[in-house]
Parts: sequence; structure tokens; C-alpha cells
Amino acid sequence: MKNVDTLMHARWVIPVTAGNPRLSHHSIAVHDGRIVDILPTTHAREQFAARTTFDYPGHALIPGLINTHTHAAMSLFRGLADDIALMDWLQNHIWPAEAKWVNEEFVQTGAELAIAEMLRSGTTCFNDMYFFPDVTGRVARKAGIRACVGLIVIDFPTVWAGSADEYLDKGIAVHDSFRNDDLITTCFAPHAPYTVSDAPLEKIRSYAHEMDIPVTIHLHETAHEIEEAMKQNAMRPLQRLNAIGLVSPALIAVHMTQLEAAEIEILAGSGSHVVHCPESNLKLASGFCPVGTLLRAGVNVALGTDGAASNNDLDMLGEMRTAALLAKGVAGNPEALPAEDALRMATINGARALGLDDKTGSLEIGKEADIVAVNFDTIETSPVYDPVSQLVYSCGREQVSDVWIAGRHVMKDRVLTQLDEQDIRDQARDWSRKIETEDK
Ligand SMILES: [Zn+2]
Repeated sequence: MKNVDTLMHARWVIPVTAGNPRLSHHSIAVHDGRIVDILPTTHAREQFAARTTFDYPGHALIPGLINTHTHAAMSLFRGLADDIALMDWLQNHIWPAEAKWVNEEFVQTGAELAIAEMLRSGTTCFNDMYFFPDVTGRVARKAGIRACVGLIVIDFPTVWAGSADEYLDKGIAVHDSFRNDDLITTCFAPHAPYTVSDAPLEKIRSYAHEMDIPVTIHLHETAHEIEEAMKQNAMRPLQRLNAIGLVSPALIAVHMTQLEAAEIEILAGSGSHVVHCPESNLKLASGFCPVGTLLRAGVNVALGTDGAASNNDLDMLGEMRTAALLAKGVAGNPEALPAEDALRMATINGARALGLDDKTGSLEIGKEADIVAVNFDTIETSPVYDPVSQLVYSCGREQVSDVWIAGRHVMKDRVLTQLDEQDIRDQARDWSRKIETEDK
């Protein structure tokens, strides 16, 4: 008998590996935060003695979900301005509210609220873009969630920085403060081609190369963005980024609703990554990302919720379902995005985009134990013919029962172990009262 920290016996294990297997009556052995074995439960019971054992006769164990595009702290603006177009939403609602309200305390509470929601829906890693990335990183570390914290850069002054150079300097200091952290990594996060000029984008290209970190940017989000870019630069934004040298395996292009065939070839040839945010795109009527075509062209496509102010939730199970349904509707083809591809987008493809696929994104021996238990023994998901179909098409996030990140049990039977849920709800309510009263 081998001694391990944790043994989980489950009705199904969905590892999200080559061939998309569904393993029946399998177990996962975890030791020192890593997966040390995945094997049939009968063998596991003979081979391993664990300090803690979990029996999940009606559950599936899946890799932790990866939300590859968030603005976590914007959870405090959830429902503040809905049912309007992107530029109206940004210019007349979000940017003024941010100028007035965003500070360290706002980001602290907003990030806690977002992380609590993400953990409660099975997300174990997120890629963020927001002000005070140092605060978001510290909250993530405290909550025990993995995060790739975006070092935001934008031309105009905000409470976080006064100039593009100051954003860059502060971003590099944040990167240094998380060096060698087990859970927190960083990427550059220039906001968008229309809010960041060439000089800072060129600096980002060379710093990202030196620091060996990705660059995430909102790109080709709407047709309006392309029209304005053509007027200003006589170039489509992707073309401009390509001329600057940013289109590379380090690029994480978020949205990409406007794509020509030649641009899909450029993305595929360069090894760039795309993040699809279907619910945000639908809500702002931004357009449709041609996910099926991108995947067939060999582009790595990950999935993100975007911020809670444009979605309005951070539910990756719901996002998978929307992505799968939308791709079929847009392509007029029910085979455009099968459930298992939607699950790959929400797990291993996100890990690949963030350069974390050696650690997370699938359940494999040697990877860190980022594991989510989902209860299928409910009315809503009975009966189960295919656990992957059930996960994508029927399952709600309230069916996520337990979450481990790097082997740490961060949600136990739907209770967060590292965060105080009552306190987070109280603080979020206090912020909404303040924002509501002052805005009247
Ligand atoms: Zn966004």
C-alpha cells in the first residue's frame, strides 16, 4: 500500500486528455498537491492508503475550469448598466463609474466577490485585466485560486497610473512581487488597440519577450472598432498589432468577432490564442466569434466570461453551454462545436493560452491537483448517458460540490474554506448602497 494525502473515488473521471475519454468508476490519488495516479477504483482501493478519502458515487471529477478573460473587481458593477452597446456602455457608464469609485478597497472587495463566485462554479484559474493587479493577485493567493494577473496598460490616466509608462513600470513591479509564486503568474494586458498607442505597445512587445509572459488584449470586439481603426490608421487592428510584432504565440486575443479568412490564417500561422466570450458578445451585441472555423484552422481557442458587468455572471458552465449552442446556430451546423470541444476550451485550451498547461487544464499524473467534483445525482441531470453532454448541456453551477486547487480543498460541500462568504456579501452590499446613493 502506498500512502497518499487524498484519494477520490468517483462514478466518472473526465480527464480532458487526447481522445476525450470518460473513465467510469475511477479514482484520483493526490499527494503533495499533485496527481500521482488515476486508476480504476477497485485497483485504487488495493494500492493506496489515504489520509483523507472521498466517495463520489454520483459525481464526475473534472479538471478545474479556466476563465481566460475576466475583470474580476467589476463584479461590484454587476447590473449597473445593461442593454446598451459597447461604446455607450464604456464611455457613458463604466469609465465614469470607474473614475469615481475604483480604488484599492473597491478592487479588494470586487476581487473577493468574483473569486468566491468563480470557485462556487468550479473555476480554479482566471486571467484578469484590471486596475490594482497587485490587490487582485494578493486576494487570489489568499483565496487559494490560481490567477494570471494582467498588468493593465491604457493611454489615459486612472487612479492606478497617470501615463502609459507609469502603467508599465507599476506592472513590472507587480510582476516582480509575484515572482516564484506557486499560484500567481502575470501577463501584459494592454486594454485595446483603440486605447493604447503604438509606443507603449512596442514596449510591451519587447518586455513580454524578455519577461517571457503572454500579452492579452481586447481585439476585434466589434465592427465599430474595425471601422474606426480603418479611418484612423488605414489598418485593421490585427494588422497593426502584426506590424508592431505582437502577433505571436504570446498573444491572447480576446473576442475576435470580426475576422477575415486571411486573418484566421495569420492567427493560426503565428500560434496566437483567441479567447471567446460568447455571453458578453451577445449581451453587448458585439458580434460572433467564428469558433468552429478557428478551431478547424488550428487556432487555440479558450473561453472567458469577461467581467460581471457585461455578462452578468462568472459561470464557466453556463459559458460552455452558450458557446456550444451559439457556434451551432451561427454556423447553421450542429457539429460546429461539440460538447467535448467546449469543455476543452474551458480547461486545457485556457491553460495553453496562459502557458500553464504543464501544471493544470487536464487531469494527468504529475499535474497539480486542480480538481472539481460535480454532482450528477440530481433531478436536473438524471439520467446520465454521457457525463460530458450532461456537464455542458444540463448541469448548473450549484451542482459543483467540491473544489481543490494544487491539492488544497478550497470548497468543501459548497462551503468556501479560505473566504468568508457572509463578509463578502455584506461588503458588496455596502458598496452598492454607496454607489446608488451617490449616483442619484
Ligand atoms: Zn473584457
